[in-house]
Amino acid sequence: MKVVRDIEEMVSISNSFREEGKRIGFVPTMGYLHEGHLSLVRLVKEKSDIVVVSIFVNLLQFGPKEDFKEYPKDLDRDIKLLEELNTDIAFVPDGQDMYPEPYFTNVEVTELGNVLCGRKRPGFFKGVTTVCTKLFNIVKPHIAVFGQKDAQQAVIITKMVKDLNMDIEIITGPTVREEDGLAVSSRNIYLCEEERKDATVLYHSLKRAESMVKAGERDGKKIKAEMQRMIESKDSAKLEYISIVDTKELNELETLKGEILIALACHFGKARLIDNIVVAC
Ligand code: AMP
Repeated sequence: MKVVRDIEEMVSISNSFREEGKRIGFVPTMGYLHEGHLSLVRLVKEKSDIVVVSIFVNLLQFGPKEDFKEYPKDLDRDIKLLEELNTDIAFVPDGQDMYPEPYFTNVEVTELGNVLCGRKRPGFFKGVTTVCTKLFNIVKPHIAVFGQKDAQQAVIITKMVKDLNMDIEIITGPTVREEDGLAVSSRNIYLCEEERKDATVLYHSLKRAESMVKAGERDGKKIKAEMQRMIESKDSAKLEYISIVDTKELNELETLKGEILIALACHFGKARLIDNIVVAC
């Protein structure tokens, strides 16, 4: 595996692969890799000739009070894990090179970025779409994969690619979970023992919501109230939101219909965790 740090070098490598007719698959990450990330690498490997994984903690998507400085890092371990999967290239650009001063340009999918997680994290999705656009221009992938764990992100990137006529196929990979159901996340490392135990309530509440829908419940308020009751029964849980929306435009649904996304964010100590489930009505 080649570790590429220089942007121009990455561009020229990608150009060469394209000239050779190779299909480039891409997995953007912020590093501190876990089984969720690795599942996406395996998925994209099946659909491409060359696999590029980027590791870049994107300052643009962190709020002033968020954990940019403490975001967990272990590049040596990440590189080993990617090598074990026969990844072709780890692209590890430098923050100054990605956003040289003065930096002025952003990409924003306006309508979809201000709901769900966007409500409490203004600018977050603008940071995500801007960095993904830059990474797409540098890595020039034919296909890029995103995790269903960050459902809103996957919807927004898919819409951006469509609206801006980017010639990239976007696919999503299923959420990888711990044995007890907690979605695997780099931020789970922040949880103390009690918070880690309590955090399993998120998945249980989503499964409860799913079974209510499957039993015929169509009142979004009732489902949210039941989920809220379950989550708030845990001492360490500070619920941020529960939303039930359609999977394309992320409009809140009072009466459930079609394919729906049930999504939530909840704080446990200093960890902000998100999770979701898609259910067909
Ligand atoms: P991050 O490093 O958190 O920016 O995540 C990089 C990619 O991995 C994103 O597309 C995430 O949606 C995806 N991802 C993170 N956690 C999981 C998980 N538990 N299962 C599947 N994909 C995940």
